[in-house]
Amino acid sequence: MKLENPAPLQWQFSHRAEQMKSSAIREILKVTMRPDITSFAGGLPSPQTFPVEHMKAAFDRVLTLQGKTALQYGPTDGYLPLREWIAGSLSADGAQILPEQVLMVSGSQQGLDLLGKVLIDEGSKVLVETPSYLGALQAFALYGAKFESVPSDENGLKPEAIEAIAGGARMLYSLPNFQNPTGRTLPTERRVKLVETCARLGLPLIEDDPYGALSYRNAPLPKMLSMNPSGVIYMGSFSKVLTPGIRLGYVVAPRPLILKMEQAKQATDLHTAQLTQMVVYEAIKDGFLDQHVPTIRKLYGDQCQAMLDALQQYFPAGCSWSKPEGGMFIWVTLPKHIDAGALLNEAVEKEKVAFVPGAPFFANAAEHNTMRLSFVTVPPEQIRAGVERLGKLIASKL
Ligand code: PMP
Repeated sequence: MKLENPAPLQWQFSHRAEQMKSSAIREILKVTMRPDITSFAGGLPSPQTFPVEHMKAAFDRVLTLQGKTALQYGPTDGYLPLREWIAGSLSADGAQILPEQVLMVSGSQQGLDLLGKVLIDEGSKVLVETPSYLGALQAFALYGAKFESVPSDENGLKPEAIEAIAGGARMLYSLPNFQNPTGRTLPTERRVKLVETCARLGLPLIEDDPYGALSYRNAPLPKMLSMNPSGVIYMGSFSKVLTPGIRLGYVVAPRPLILKMEQAKQATDLHTAQLTQMVVYEAIKDGFLDQHVPTIRKLYGDQCQAMLDALQQYFPAGCSWSKPEGGMFIWVTLPKHIDAGALLNEAVEKEKVAFVPGAPFFANAAEHNTMRLSFVTVPPEQIRAGVERLGKLIASKL
């Protein structure tokens, strides 16, 4: 029997919940789903790269041969053969990584949340790049992180700036490869210096690396994990090399941290879906990624070049942008007086183009004249046309 006229509930949200905000990007994405909009906003991998048939066959084999195990609860740390595969692939870089150092997570975003849960108290200092990945800022902010921005330039963070600001910090969060949002890459010398500095200070160094395999021009630079496996926490993901919809990532860390994160994960979701872990293992165990990832590199590399060419042709003088060697994003700096946040509405309504304003990616002093453009979701002809329209709008503000 349905209750008549129930009183409205008196919500009293936690202090934590009161401080939560929706990600600026997720809000923008809602608008840019409109089919008439050319969106450079979302960080969505191109569906063209999704190996649907290959995944379908892997699902079929897993369910046919190991259906009862795949549909059962599983261990919190993850499916052992997949953790062994990951440990093996990371060991190839020169370091010996053991499966017990690998924790499977439901997307590396969950890894960021778990890190926050076990390392951050209200007011804990966390060092981040300038700018940094918004999803990490959001995840850490939830646990009360107080961010300190490490001075950075077009080559990423400056390791020599760390010591002066590191006192009492719980961790340093870094994105060495094709950073989100800037697309920039941390050169090898800086990686070495960063690892050495953090090791000397006893500061946990987070290496968030979802784009590392998407290198368009050169061989990948060495992972910081291989330089110091006992001081670096590495985060990987299948989102950009396979598909994001399976929500599968991993954290590689020294055992004491893995154990804590495992305890935190038990309370969060018990474990990452056994079925998807088994399917991904089935899909990749025979070397599939070795053929598949180069096709993604080719597609994105061409689209990156199409966007760089279009920017060169259509953006007015006074604008500058990063020249990524991989990943999914280009970072544009507009003349100082243009606020990219204010420009967005006009770009969407008048020119039917969307981008992500850069300000939310800054943990501290925001640079409002910046924007992030993704070159992966839209095909080259549309990239050219969209950049042309956006360039015209910017030129009209000069
Ligand atoms: N880290 C970075 C730098 C990212 O850009 C993303 C996805 N946009 C993530 C982590 C999360 O990836 P996922 O949860 O899909 O593995």
